[in-house]
Order: sequence, then C-alpha cells, then structure tokens
Amino acid sequence: MKRRLLWRLLPAFIAVVAVSLFLFSLVAFRIFDNFHLAQITDELRAQIMLAEPNLRAAADLQQAVQELGERTGTRFTVILPDGTVTADSAEDPAQMANHADRPEVRNAFGGVVGMSTRYSPTLKKDLTYVALRVRTAGETQFVLRAAKPLRGVKEAIRPVFGVILLAALIIAVAAALVSYIVARRMSIPLRHIQEGAEKFAAGELRSRLAVPDTEEFARLARSLNTMAAELDTRIRTITDQRNELQTILTSMDEALIVVGDDETVLRLNRAAGALFHTAVEEAEGKPVVGVVRNRALHEFIREVLATGLSGQREVELYDSDGRVLLTHGTIVPGETRMALLVFSDVTRLKKLENIRKEFVANVSHELRTPITSIKGFVETLRDGAVDDPANARSFLDTIARQSDRLGAIIEDLLALSKIERDTEQGGIARDRANLRPILDAAVQLFRERAAERGIGIVTVCEETLTAPVNAALLEQAIVNLVDNAVKYSSDNGTITLEARRTGNEATISVADTGVGIASEHLPRLFERFYRVDKARSRTVGGTGLGLAIVKHIALAHGGSVSVESEPGKGSTFSLHLPIS
Ligand code: ADP
Repeated sequence: MKRRLLWRLLPAFIAVVAVSLFLFSLVAFRIFDNFHLAQITDELRAQIMLAEPNLRAAADLQQAVQELGERTGTRFTVILPDGTVTADSAEDPAQMANHADRPEVRNAFGGVVGMSTRYSPTLKKDLTYVALRVRTAGETQFVLRAAKPLRGVKEAIRPVFGVILLAALIIAVAAALVSYIVARRMSIPLRHIQEGAEKFAAGELRSRLAVPDTEEFARLARSLNTMAAELDTRIRTITDQRNELQTILTSMDEALIVVGDDETVLRLNRAAGALFHTAVEEAEGKPVVGVVRNRALHEFIREVLATGLSGQREVELYDSDGRVLLTHGTIVPGETRMALLVFSDVTRLKKLENIRKEFVANVSHELRTPITSIKGFVETLRDGAVDDPANARSFLDTIARQSDRLGAIIEDLLALSKIERDTEQGGIARDRANLRPILDAAVQLFRERAAERGIGIVTVCEETLTAPVNAALLEQAIVNLVDNAVKYSSDNGTITLEARRTGNEATISVADTGVGIASEHLPRLFERFYRVDKARSRTVGGTGLGLAIVKHIALAHGGSVSVESEPGKGSTFSLHLPIS
C-alpha cells in the first residue's frame, strides 16, 4: 500500500518541530539557569559588601549576623581563618563543623571571591554560596559567607510550563497545517503530470502537459512532453513505413511469402494468395506446408532457412495451368531467422524457351533433309555418275531442286524473323491502302499456274474498301494463302479470294475446293513447320512456314487468322485486320 505524500511529509515536519523545540528548550533552560545563578551570585556579593562594614564594627557577631539574616532572608556565616564557624544566621555555630575545606571559603581566604553551588544536607536543597574575606589593617579577620537557596530551574519554569506546552501544541498544529498545504501544493501539479502521463500511456501522444511553476516539476513536465512528441514522431514514422510496405506488398505483381524459422507463414501478399489459391488472412500464421502444397518448394524453404544462403529454384506447380515459378529465397536479417520468397511466373518464358528449342530442332531437321540429299547426289556424281550423262542430268536437277528448297526455307525463315523483329521494335509501317489492287497483284502471280490446271480464281472485293496495312506484307500473306490453295486444290477447282468489311475489321478470305484438312490438325496448322501431309507438302515444294508467316503478318497488323475446313470439300483461310 503506497502512502500519500501528505502522510510522508507530516511526520517529518512534526519530528523536525519536536526536535527543534526540545533543543531550543534545552538551550533556553541552560541560559536561564546561568542567568539565575549569576543574578543570585551578584545579589549575594552585594549583600556581603553592604554587610561588611556593620560586621566589622559589630560587638556581637552572632547577633549582627542573625539580624542581617532576618532582614535579608539570606543566610550569613562568619568563618575564622582556622575554619571555625563563629557566627551563623541560620544555625548554631557551635554545632557546625570546621568550614576550612569548603571551596568558597578556601578561595575567599586565598584572596578571590569564593563561589560555589552545592547541595546542603542541612537544609536539604541546592544552595549558592558567595564568600569574601574581611580584612582589618592588612590582616585577614574572617570570611563572610552569604548563601541563598538556588531555586531549581524546574521550579522556576513550573509556572510557564503550561504556556510552553501550549506553544508547542500550537507549533505542532501549525506544522501539520503547513505540511498539509505544502503537500497539497506539491501534489496538485504532480497529479496533473500523473494524469497527463496516463493519457500518454493510453496512446494520446498528441496531448501536452501544462508546465507548472515549480522548477523541478516544470522540468519533469517538459521532459515528458518531449518524450511524447518524440514517441509520436517515431510511431508515426513506423506506421508510415509499415503502411508503405503494406502498399508495396499488396500492389506488387510478384507473389511474396515470408516464412518464419518454424516454417509458418508470417506474411503473404495478395499476389501470392491468388497464386496459391488462398486467402491472405487465412494463410498467415499457418504452417507453410498447409498453404502451398509443393514438395520441391518445401525443400527449398528448408534449405534457405537451414543454410541462411540466398538462392533460386524453378518450381513447377502441379495445378491445371501447369505453371512454372522461379522462386528467389533470401534470409531476412533479424532476431529470428525468416525466409523471404519471391515468385515470378516464368511459365510463358518457359514455353517460349521450349518453342525456341523445338524450333531450332525443327529448322535443323528441315535443313538436314535437303543437305543430305544434295550431299548424296554430289557424292554419286563424283563416284562416277558424272560420266553417265542421262543420270547426271537428272541428279543435277534434283540437286538444283533441293537447293531451291533450302533457299526457300531460309528465305521464309528470314521473312518470319524480320516480321517478328519489326513487330517487337515498335511495329511495322502501315498506310491506309485500297485492298483491291493488293488482291489483284497477288492473284496475278498464279493466273498462269492455275490456268494450266483448269483452276479458276475469282476475286470479290469492293473497289472502295481500304485498311491501314503494310501493302508488301499483306500481299505476301495473300500470296502464301493463294499458293496453298493452288497447291492443295485438285484440278479444275475454284479459288475464291474475297475481301469484305465485317464490323470494324476487314476480312480477307481465300477459299478453295481442294483436299481439305481434318479438324484435329486445325489448331496447330499455323505453327512453324507443321504439315498435315509431309510427303505431299514436299512434292509441291512447301516449306511448312507459309501459314506461320501469314499468321505473323496478321498479328503485326493487330489482327488474327482463322481457318475452316472440311476434308474432301475444301478449306477457307481468313485474315482479320482492323480497319481503324
Ligand atoms: P507448306 O509450305 O507445307 O504448304 P504451310 O504453312 O503453308 O506449309 O501449310 C501447312 C500445312 O497446312 C500444309 O502442309 C498443308 O498440309 C496444310 N494446308 C495449308 N493450306 C491448305 C489448303 N488450302 N488446303 C489443304 N491443306 C492446306
């Protein structure tokens, strides 16, 4: 139980007052005592001086002394040089002992004023004695001693004792009052400071304490105010930083997870929640094994936590999308070890990488066939066939055909990569152009070849139809489509090249009445080197890149391609290009 300030101050005050009163009384009594003694001594001396002439002349000393004693109320004694008492106003001198050893008497005979205070067993009280020698013609006649009871100090103060007690009581009450007032005066600002500090503790750090008048309290209040201001700024800075971090984490596209040393999820941002199909609030605090079900990832987290080293690992998610994540793991420095994991979705990159690998393999394969063929025929010729003119010509024709094929493949590859590069580097150049002349120019190239096989080419296009296009590229796309239509048409078929406006786009379609394509091939038809019938493609001189080029030209225009086909009936390839 804590005592209040008042109850701490009051006893101290009273103790101080009591001790000072006691000491004061002690000193006062002493002074009073001394004063009293001095007064009595003086009085006795004066009485001796006054009595001396009378006694010197007195015939009967005893009588003179008795008279004196009665008159003054003082006891007078006359002592002869040998110490015998010859006269005494209070006692019978004959009964009295030799007084030579009394200190005052001894001193008086010695020539000085003898003084002594002591207890008189005869009178049973303290007496003060003063003695002087009386001389006649240079001869010491006797010593005259006067004595008076020394009224005790206690006796002397008895009448004022009550007054002193009352004064002490008044002083004690005054002390209590003063200590009460002082305690109150001290406790009021203290209480204000206490209330203010409680407000700070409750989080009201913007409030300020009033600064009291007392120096020490003012300093305390100012210190508390400074502390609150400081705390306020710090807390605000920390809150701002936390909010900032929260915002950054939330708005990050990269998924992020912080895992504690005990493998529980401490933090998980929105992107990570979406990636692992979990709610942020639900996941935080759970073991990571329960949030992300992926053994490779768990192993990686354990590794990072155990070694404290940063690293990265590719992790495949076994979900429906077959996504691949590149996971960066870092240790967050702090009292306890935490692993920070950042995931980037590299599925697309991975796919592109696979496509690239596949493409390189395909190109190598495509190029190897004609090269092997050329090499074979060249070797045959060198081994002697060159001397057989009939065969040699046919071999040379094959070599030439294979060389053309190689050339065609390389040309198509270059065309493809150019379109791709142009698209990546800010897009291809486009101008609004009439489509009709472009269609006509493309068809023109096949007129002869088509006519030879009895294939009719019909062009349907409004003269006024325009679109923002790269005329050269669009012509190449149409050429590729018409080329295929001719290639895969049976004799006497019809090819319809049509351009029309549908909504906000221009659709250019090439329809033939040829062999058609089975539906399972349609989704992959526009891939590089994809062929439905490899042998046929080769015999008709296809590179397997024609449709890929068409598709990339459409994409470069911000458009798309589509195909409809029925085996045995024919196919329709369409280019969809935006008009505005
Ligand atoms: P290719 O140079 O072999 O013709 P393309 O990329 O132009 O390569 O065409 C890919 C494949 O699509 C061809 O091998 C062919 O099997 C099929 N194809 C393309 N156009 C037609 C069409 N008009 N009719 C039937 N099949 C076609």
